[in-house]
Amino acid sequence: MHSQRELPKGFVVIRCPTDGEPVFTGVRMNPEEYEDATLRDLGMRCLRCRRTHIWSKEDSWLETFHIR
Ligand SMILES: [Zn+2]
Repeated sequence: MHSQRELPKGFVVIRCPTDGEPVFTGVRMNPEEYEDATLRDLGMRCLRCRRTHIWSKEDSWLETFHIR
């Protein structure tokens, strides 16, 4: 690793297909981990509509709140 500083962890978010609002998938990782991660056909219990959604990386993005 070239960096001493740990990158802040972000929240992997998808858009809920039911109400179209962003929803947290339950996965947290930093931007480097997200870049390298393979995320395919993961199930998550939606906090908004209470259904189970199957999502892949292309449906998701990383939200980081620490540094803007
Ligand atoms: Zn949902």
